[in-house]
Amino acid sequence: MSIISKDITKAITLLSNDELVAIPTETVYGLAGNIFSEKAIQRIFETKKRPFFNPLIVHISSVDVLDTIVSHVPEKAKILANTFWPGSMTLVLKKTKKIPDIITAGKDTVAVRVPNHPVTLELLKKLPFPLAAPSANPFNQISPTKPEHVEHYFKHDIQMVLDGGACKNGIESTIIGFENDEPVVYRLGALAIEDIESAVGKITIKNKKEENPDAPGMLDKHYSPKTKTILTSSILAEIENHQNKKIGVLAFNTSFKSDKIAAEIILSITSNLQEAASKLYDSLHQLDHLNLDLIIAERLPDIGLGKSINDRLQRASFVAL
Ligand code: AMP
Ligand code: MG
Repeated sequence: MSIISKDITKAITLLSNDELVAIPTETVYGLAGNIFSEKAIQRIFETKKRPFFNPLIVHISSVDVLDTIVSHVPEKAKILANTFWPGSMTLVLKKTKKIPDIITAGKDTVAVRVPNHPVTLELLKKLPFPLAAPSANPFNQISPTKPEHVEHYFKHDIQMVLDGGACKNGIESTIIGFENDEPVVYRLGALAIEDIESAVGKITIKNKKEENPDAPGMLDKHYSPKTKTILTSSILAEIENHQNKKIGVLAFNTSFKSDKIAAEIILSITSNLQEAASKLYDSLHQLDHLNLDLIIAERLPDIGLGKSINDRLQRASFVAL
């Protein structure tokens, strides 16, 4: 029997009993548990096989709850929260004592966001506690953007995926921390840098391990299909490097019409970066299930959400030397 269901009451019962429920958000599906239940939080890490040094994002129902989670909100954090919540932006702020150390990997900061999905907002409003929810995929694998992706990964591990349809934005939230009260982007994501800068002015990006050894989760390899993946600006030239291989192509806006390609998915024929982001992980899931030797992905224009998509494809294709 399928674990996918629209029954919010059942989700509330499970979550109130220290169980996990996969929840829809506008970015990707999350594997959610009560932030105050040690049992639930342990289970999140076990189920995902996520290392304990990688902290979780706390999901709250509205900006009004923020003061119970964090102890200091810089002026620009207030502007960002009021401008973009509910939405695909996570703020990393000094935590209050109430937040268990296991959520934050022992750090004195906590990552928090108000997701913009009607089903999960309703769920959060009805629950007496916030939800910790990392992406509902095994550690390092492709994030889920449809309930079926979660079911495929975790049907033997959890009792329920709360069905909210396909995720509109399709890649993870943009994570913003604060250094001397000034915002710094730690992870590129579904909210474009240009939009953030229109609210708070020029912003620093530190999304590489070297730039930010302190912030966890900036792994070189992440978001990866099982199939070997290569990122390139020139699909046809790359194909020539791999003779007699079963090749899948993830193209931006055009078909390469080559008989050397076994499968091809185009992210947006109208070059719409929002559409491309929303289709990115589903396309990788599809290509990864075709028993290909190789996926060749096309680099997108390095603007707006193109930057975030390129970041994910870069990590998906990372090979340690
Ligand atoms: P996920 O929930 O899978 O989208 O990943 C959550 C990510 O949030 C982590 O991998 C970290 O990069 C980031 N994060 C969460 N909490 C913190 C924190 N306290 N400080 C810095 N980064 C954080
Ligand atoms: Mg993740």
